[in-house]
Amino acid sequence: MKCKVCKRRAVINLRAQNRGLCEECFDTYVLDRVERTIKRFKMFSRGQRVLVAVSGGKDSLGLWDILARLGYNPTGFFVDVGISRDGYSTRSRMVVESFARSRGMDLLVESLEHWWGKGIEEIGRRVLCPTCGMAKRYLTNRVAVERGYDVLCTGHNLDDEVAVLLSNILNWQVGYLARQAPVLESWHSRLTRKVKPLVLLTEKESALYALLRGIEHVEVSCPYARGATTLFYKRLINQVEWRSPGTKQRFYTLFLRNKGLFEGVAKEERESLKECDRCGQPTWEGLCAFCRFMEGSHGDTGREVSKGNQV
Ligand code: SF4
Ligand SMILES: [Zn+2]
Ligand SMILES: [Zn+2]
Repeated sequence: MKCKVCKRRAVINLRAQNRGLCEECFDTYVLDRVERTIKRFKMFSRGQRVLVAVSGGKDSLGLWDILARLGYNPTGFFVDVGISRDGYSTRSRMVVESFARSRGMDLLVESLEHWWGKGIEEIGRRVLCPTCGMAKRYLTNRVAVERGYDVLCTGHNLDDEVAVLLSNILNWQVGYLARQAPVLESWHSRLTRKVKPLVLLTEKESALYALLRGIEHVEVSCPYARGATTLFYKRLINQVEWRSPGTKQRFYTLFLRNKGLFEGVAKEERESLKECDRCGQPTWEGLCAFCRFMEGSHGDTGREVSKGNQV
């Protein structure tokens, strides 16, 4: 297959767009696509302070790399959650630190142990993965706000968003649907603005970008990951995409076009936002999900403010 632009050998077949691209044209395509996404959804501008949540995975490191190449000034942010099994957290942290060093990029690192005196294996107990996700969202939001960043970027790609969208629709999670967006505005002074610049890039495109740029990332999955349902939805959508190229993008962009349907719920949620009695973070309850958990009444972590915009 030849590149549709320059006729050299193609490295990827973008079936949804019915064209192949060579390595160089693919690189241009990725940068252009992310820049357009940032502009289309008015995510941020070059003068703003941008924090990028990095996990050591290909998407977040790729995003960090893209933003730097586009001339933004992104600072990486890594949360060391203290997973000792398989040396997971140490290994992820080393990958992120080495990436930052090799490119001369600014990196912030915080650890759960530093904030709460123990890592997630002690805090999370039997519900480790959801608690870990909640703790990371909590800490990332807090650090972004307290350190004065204008915006927090996460590396969610189109496949991630479509899988979440499918799950939200299958379960008619109206609150989550109201909050699922490429930009989650800050409705409160202690809530950071969150954006997803890779939202129009597929998982395959994001993975190829990391490969072609020689981005070393953590290849193994977290030993506590509970992503089986999401993976199932992704496989399902990919089957549909195979039969009908362009479905993924259509499903997502048409959802965004019809988001007004959920505006009533979104408004209600915005207006009922309060401050946590203990830590002051935004919440819908007396205590935020994190403080509720730390108090020992594990409660429902699902209504955490940042849910649907996970770090
Ligand atoms: S997969 Fe779950 S437990 Fe592992 S780092 Fe992510 S949120 Fe934490
Ligand atoms: Zn080309
Ligand atoms: Zn709290």
